[in-house]
Amino acid sequence: MTALLLVPGFFGLLIGSFLNVVVYRVPNGGSIVSPPSACPGCASRIAWYDNIPVVSWLALRGRCRSCGNPISARYPLVELGTAVLFALVAVVFGPPLLTATTPQAAIAAALVLVAFLYLVAITVALALIDLDAHVLPNAIVLPSYLVAAALLGVAGALAGDGGALIRAGISMAALVVAYLVMALAVPGGMGLGDVKLAGVLGIYLGFVGWGALAVGALAAFVLGGLYGCALILARRAKRTSGIPFGPWMLVGAWVGIVFGNSISAGYLALFGFSGAGLS
Ligand SMILES: [Zn+2]
Repeated sequence: MTALLLVPGFFGLLIGSFLNVVVYRVPNGGSIVSPPSACPGCASRIAWYDNIPVVSWLALRGRCRSCGNPISARYPLVELGTAVLFALVAVVFGPPLLTATTPQAAIAAALVLVAFLYLVAITVALALIDLDAHVLPNAIVLPSYLVAAALLGVAGALAGDGGALIRAGISMAALVVAYLVMALAVPGGMGLGDVKLAGVLGIYLGFVGWGALAVGALAAFVLGGLYGCALILARRAKRTSGIPFGPWMLVGAWVGIVFGNSISAGYLALFGFSGAGLS
C-alpha cells in the first residue's frame, strides 16, 4: 500500500515539473522540449540542480540563483499537487492491478491506471491554461482522444468488457452534442474548446459507468454555478464577465469518476430502484 502511494507520488512530482513547462509554453505556441528552461527575469539557463521538483524551489527560497527574481510558488505547488493526485488515483485504480489473477487482467488494469494518470496530467495542464489564458489548446485536447481511446480500448478488450467501450463511445458523442448545442444556443458562453474537451471526458466517464457520466456531467454545472454565484455575491465578477468553464468540467468529471456510480446507485435506491444494470 505504501508503494502504491510513494511510487506514483514520486512519478507525479516529475510529471508536475513537466506540466509547469507545458502550462507556461503551450498557450504561446512554444515547444515543450527546447529551448531548455531559463529564468524569465535574467534569461540565464536553469541548472539541473535548481530544477529538482519542490526541493530546488525551497532551497533557493523561491528566488532565481542568478538575479534573485522571485519564482512563483505555483511551480512547487503544481508539482506537489500532481504528486498528491497521482497517489490518489493510484489508490482508486491500483487495487485491481494488485489483485489481478491473469496476465490479461493485470495488463488491462495497468492500462486503466495509466489512462487515468494521463487524465490527471491533462486536468492539471488544461485547468491552469484555461484559468491563465481562457483557452483549451487543441495541441493537448485532440491527442487526448487518441490516448484515451487506445488505452481504455485495449483495456476494455482485454478485460472482455465490451459494455464499457460502448458506454464510452455513446458518452463521448452525447457530451459533444450537448456541449455543441449549448455553445450554439448561448454565444459567448461555452466555447468550441469546451465542446472538444467534453468528448474526451465523455470517453472516461462512460468507461466508468452511466452513473459516473450523469454525476460527472451535472457536477460541472453545479460546481461552476456555485462558484459563479459566489463571485457575483463577492462582487468580484459581473454576470457577463467570462469565467472559464473548462476547470469545472474537469473537476466535475473527477467527481463523477470517483463518486458517480455510488452517488447514482444511492439516489436510485432512495426511490426503491436497485442499481442493477447501471454499472
Ligand atoms: Zn534570473
